[in-house]
Amino acid sequence: MIDVHCHLQFKAFENDYDAVIKAAFDEGVTKIINTGTQLSSSKKAVEFAERYENIYAIVGVHPHHADKIETNPEIVEKGEESSVIASAKKQSHTDKIAASPSAPRNDENYWLNELEKLTHHPKVLAIGEIGMDYYNYHSNGIVDPALQKKVFIQQIELAHKAKLPLQIHNRQAGEDVINILKEHKQLLLPNPGMFHCFAGTTEVLKDALSLGFSIGFDGNSTYKGLAPGETVALPDLINLTPLDRIVIETDSPYLSPIPHRGKRNEPKYAILTARFVADCKKISYEKLVEQTDKNVYTMFGKLKV
Ligand SMILES: [Zn+2]
Ligand SMILES: [Zn+2]
Repeated sequence: MIDVHCHLQFKAFENDYDAVIKAAFDEGVTKIINTGTQLSSSKKAVEFAERYENIYAIVGVHPHHADKIETNPEIVEKGEESSVIASAKKQSHTDKIAASPSAPRNDENYWLNELEKLTHHPKVLAIGEIGMDYYNYHSNGIVDPALQKKVFIQQIELAHKAKLPLQIHNRQAGEDVINILKEHKQLLLPNPGMFHCFAGTTEVLKDALSLGFSIGFDGNSTYKGLAPGETVALPDLINLTPLDRIVIETDSPYLSPIPHRGKRNEPKYAILTARFVADCKKISYEKLVEQTDKNVYTMFGKLKV
């Protein structure tokens, strides 16, 4: 059972990430993949991967942060970051590969060059979470879509250069995400990666599948009814997705499955979502885990059993 997308480097886990990781492995999670949302949380994801066996990293800049990278690439969003590991570790591989004290912070490609260095790390599996987001957040509204698109494409190009798949974030921007991917189809790998925390229309799902992407489902699949802005229920989307394209994730600390909705999510709850998806597909939990794990290895070429 692999959790393909979570954020143990966020502040929500700064006091007990060690216990959270142990609990997940004790309950039957075998691998955990932490995803970055900006440069600093990407570097922290790599630090977790260096510190723990069976923990891996995905690095990238989330569309929500596309407006912050050029002016201050190291900016720390309130509530996101944990500083525990960074201060606990004096000398790490990450420090060596990522620190460039001489790089001018006003260089508009500073963030991209720093991400590129991280892609060479053996436990960095993909570029993410990258994509488009038209949800109106309380904290900073909607980031200029043109800027989101620019940052998304720059990272598709980076993934192509690094021969890494993509882990895509899409919130209420499915059509534009698909169009951008179609326009850059020649840059995608044969196994191009995955849409994380999928939601959207059946058309977007079909397009994502025909481009070769796998589809990540989370704890919100277990919630009754439709989320605001959505038109198709998640169990219906699960049923429309072939079993050999489904992967399971938590997006911890967000989106806890029932019965933990509203509380902090943890990688161990990936098991609850996997059970729910197995029920939707009318197969056993064991069969679901066997197939979804296989899908992860197919998608993330650098991940070894
Ligand atoms: Zn996301
Ligand atoms: Zn996420």
